[in-house]
Amino acid sequence: MPTSGPAAVLGVPYDAASSFRRGPAAAPDQIRKALASSVGNSWSEMLVDISAPDVLIDAGDVRFAGDDVRDAIDSEVTRVLATGVRPIVLGGDHSITFPVVRAVSRTVERLTILHVDAHADLYDSFEGDRFSHACPFARIMEAGLAARLVQVGIRTMTRHQREQADRFGVEVIDMRGWETGVRPVVGHNEVVYLSVDIDGIDPAFAPGVSHPEPGGLTVREVVSLIQQLDAPLVAADVVECNPEVDPSGITPYVAAKLVKEIAAGMYRVSR
Ligand code: MN
Ligand code: MN
Repeated sequence: MPTSGPAAVLGVPYDAASSFRRGPAAAPDQIRKALASSVGNSWSEMLVDISAPDVLIDAGDVRFAGDDVRDAIDSEVTRVLATGVRPIVLGGDHSITFPVVRAVSRTVERLTILHVDAHADLYDSFEGDRFSHACPFARIMEAGLAARLVQVGIRTMTRHQREQADRFGVEVIDMRGWETGVRPVVGHNEVVYLSVDIDGIDPAFAPGVSHPEPGGLTVREVVSLIQQLDAPLVAADVVECNPEVDPSGITPYVAAKLVKEIAAGMYRVSR
């Protein structure tokens, strides 16, 4: 697992596994624009300048030239990891997390996934598609790609997905639990993959998502979750930002804010 190189944003402009509406394919460019915008500066709250080339670089976008989509994502993430760089993948819909984690898991013996989302994304199949954005964590767990999956922000649980969570030993911290103060416990010697579905945040703060679900986390709570993580982050994704349904245009800025704190967290724990 790479531990000393910079982090890199890697765009995955793919939303064909969305079940309801398209749009997240346009997000990587919008998040990059927000990251570079003069609206803010390039410093994370943890006093790390993410414009420094030893902190964060841009690995471009995954290109889909008629290849199998998941193989294209897997091989690009594998290529980035092989250069000693830790990818921060910009989705895209949440289906991309399965091939990203598949690539990352080959470099880590025991992977802990911390997953922020309104949805558990544990359907065995959704509308006939086993690779839908409603299914990535079922595919990840049944393939044994992660030792732990800890979910935060969940508020759309169904009986089927509850059974799937029990079957795979998923640790679900739903919004009811979060409100009573339950927080993920991650040891400092665990190696963490962070997957942030922007709809885990309340739509009051991040309205530009395909499946807005009221009653969610604040941006501040997710920032704090990232900042308080005292374990090496091997890779991360920020997915489901949908610029097509974002009346205020704020949602890519929310995604960019999280990318900054993730990059700073990777930089700090690597040293
Ligand atoms: Mn999701
Ligand atoms: Mn979601």
